[in-house]
Amino acid sequence: MDLFQRCRDFKDAERVQAMGLYPFFRPIASAQEPEVTMDGQKIIMLGSNNYLGLTNHPHVKERSLEALKKYGSGAAGSRFLNGTLEIHVELEKRLASFVQKEVALVFSTGFQTNLGTIATLVGKDDCVYIDKLDHASIIDGCRLSFGKVRKFGHNDLKHLEKLVQSDGEKPGKLVAVDGVFSMEGDIFPLPELMPLAKKYDLKVLVDDAHGLGVLGEMGRGTSHHFGLQDRVDLIMGTFSKSLASVGGFIAGRAEVISWIKHKARPLIFSASPPPASVGAVLGALDVIEREPERREKLWANTRFLRDGLKSLGYDTGNSASPIIPAVVGEDMICFQMVHRLQELGVFANPVISPATPPGRALLRNSLMATHTQGHLEKALSAFQKAGKEFGVIP
Ligand code: PMP
Repeated sequence: MDLFQRCRDFKDAERVQAMGLYPFFRPIASAQEPEVTMDGQKIIMLGSNNYLGLTNHPHVKERSLEALKKYGSGAAGSRFLNGTLEIHVELEKRLASFVQKEVALVFSTGFQTNLGTIATLVGKDDCVYIDKLDHASIIDGCRLSFGKVRKFGHNDLKHLEKLVQSDGEKPGKLVAVDGVFSMEGDIFPLPELMPLAKKYDLKVLVDDAHGLGVLGEMGRGTSHHFGLQDRVDLIMGTFSKSLASVGGFIAGRAEVISWIKHKARPLIFSASPPPASVGAVLGALDVIEREPERREKLWANTRFLRDGLKSLGYDTGNSASPIIPAVVGEDMICFQMVHRLQELGVFANPVISPATPPGRALLRNSLMATHTQGHLEKALSAFQKAGKEFGVIP
């Protein structure tokens, strides 16, 4: 059997490319601003995770440059050995205080953070419970662990309880959930989880990739939004959304973080995040603390776009965050919509099966604090035109 036969047989991408509808890996020639340049044209960006609009902020870039000048372009090793710089430690202290946990540990990506955390915590006699719509990095972290992986229905705490009961008292138990779900923008019902956590001694990890900077007082995240920061055991975050950079962290009690720090293979055997990326996160935290009005603007934009899409007749699911899906149906309609929206001056992200159930392909829109009303009005009129042309809205 030729191992590469499956690569030669893979024609999905070519087929969509031949139709001129391929919507992935589209090169952008400018910064992630509310308007970006593509093929020499300005286009409204409605697919960026740059929620607070900080990736091109002068202060964030300044701090990134300072770090680059002081420490050079790379840390040349893993956190474990020679690659921990003072700036990594400074960031860890800052993050721990931001999410109000004892200690934080910085990884090179959010994906690695979930891999390393889950795989080292969940041993062979333990169970890990995950929501059906959890992020791929949580799922892969579970795959790397030697424990029993149990998937419950989306936001379905009754189902979770049944699974927990069926596993008995003996195993150690971790529940790992997204705070804000990355595709449909709905929020995990943490308050309903807490009585179960107490009753069955479940440890709780919240992946707050999309909640940090967005939800809760000062943007401290989903756990703070519910006032549950003390009862959530581990808060995971990424720098690739509101924090305007790349990297990730896990925060919790000192002894738990110390275990992860000394055991997590994606931390120990991978180079630490480069100084410029770390400096940018420090800059982003400065701005988040100094300019709370950015978050207010993000929420005003969120309400405007969500109300607008709904009144056009789009199904926006249960979104309660700046991630607003517009359900379009079949995968091919989704590709056609993305293509048409691009012609109309709007960059939208397609999400198709298996990331969504078949027949529920969607456009995953996301807002920035820096979008103007004008951008959003133009985007809505493009959604109206394209949606009608493809029979998605009446
Ligand atoms: N968790 C969630 C919920 C995410 O959406 C993402 C990024 N898409 C990650 C983890 C991984 O983060 P990173 O981009 O830092 O690898």
